[in-house]
Amino acid sequence: MENRPLQPESLMMSYGYKPELSEGSLKCPIFQTSTFVFKKAEDGKAFFQLAYGQREKLPGEVPGLIYSRLNNPDLEILEDRLTLWDRAEACAVFESGMSAISTTLMEFLRPGNLLLFSAPLYGGSDHFIKHVLTRMGVEILPFYAHESEQEVIRKVEATGKGDKLAMVYLETPANPTNALFDIEVCANIARHFSRGEHKAYVAVDNTYMGPLWQHPLKHGADLVLYSATKYIGGHSDVVAGACLGSKELIGRVKVLRTFLGSMAGPWTAWLLMRSLETLKVRMEQQAANAQQVARYLAQHPKVARVYYLGMLQEQDPQYAIYKKQLLSPGAMLSFDVQGGEAEAFSLLNHLKLIKLAVSLGSTESLAQHPATMTHADVSAEDKARLGINPAMVRLSVGVENADDIIWDLQQALEAV
Ligand SMILES: *Cc1c(COP(=O)(O)O)cnc(C)c1O
Repeated sequence: MENRPLQPESLMMSYGYKPELSEGSLKCPIFQTSTFVFKKAEDGKAFFQLAYGQREKLPGEVPGLIYSRLNNPDLEILEDRLTLWDRAEACAVFESGMSAISTTLMEFLRPGNLLLFSAPLYGGSDHFIKHVLTRMGVEILPFYAHESEQEVIRKVEATGKGDKLAMVYLETPANPTNALFDIEVCANIARHFSRGEHKAYVAVDNTYMGPLWQHPLKHGADLVLYSATKYIGGHSDVVAGACLGSKELIGRVKVLRTFLGSMAGPWTAWLLMRSLETLKVRMEQQAANAQQVARYLAQHPKVARVYYLGMLQEQDPQYAIYKKQLLSPGAMLSFDVQGGEAEAFSLLNHLKLIKLAVSLGSTESLAQHPATMTHADVSAEDKARLGINPAMVRLSVGVENADDIIWDLQQALEAV
């Protein structure tokens, strides 16, 4: 084992955990404690010096445990395991995806800075950017999947604040249309506006495709964000989030996390470690099911259009991004029924196996209506621009038997 580089799925059961430190317990226990006992006063002093950055670590020195808002063994081991999928240097885990996103945005943005963000974004992120960051004096500018690198650069220059661009923030694929943004292009844009000390960072919300099918750090991103509520948790029973990147950047994120108090607790961390053991088999089954479901929907006379990455045509400019950036078409797809809201609602109301709920990435299949549910807050103008129409239904495909999922869609479509 010493020199064989094991794959992440082989390490999810053991990485970072030492049974001999926990009475030989095979599984990592839940360290349900708020505080930790120091062996002697000198240790407490040394731990605090490191925690407050008053001195550098000595060779081989491990930072000691102090208090569970700063660190906890479950949190630490979970963070180490999460770094393996994205090959990140470091990870910070949070009590929700939104706390990971808001803490990270607040750490890297100052009053007067410009934030460039992809549209559409997850509703919570969109709200935080438009209504909270702007209140703190951050200037914001959206960009769209159809805009080229040069168009976006000109757009940023036109604001007269190019020298203040501090972050390019994106979600790809975009929800619910699966429109793709090129992460490498975003890194070029950030580089174009970085000068000497001033650096614009690229942060990617990878909830839709990660941590298995898209690795933004490899394509030039500085930070990767997750709602771990989705694929990472994978069972619709926990809310959590994560941010990954270099030691330096995650160190900064963790300092702000300590003072906002938005870290995940030991129970959340333990649940996520349990989930990570089956992450790959779950996600692969979900992607295999989604492919069959997409094929079925594409030939159905009552389905007007299917938005599924596995059906991109080679001549589509999005196809090149797909080939470069993604390892799988994923398990999220949308489709338009023939008709409008009434037909979409009729379909949703007739589903028997698939549950009518928002959220995604879990073992059970979920369906929802973006125009009136997850994207209810998007302006009519933006809905039209982004193609979020009243006939659209979004599906998160689960691990059930694919024929059963298809049977459910078939009988619901018949009822429309
Ligand atoms: C769910 C979600 C979030 C928010 O995560 P929470 O865990 O609900 O706080 C952020 N981004 C995307 C893409 C999501 O799907």
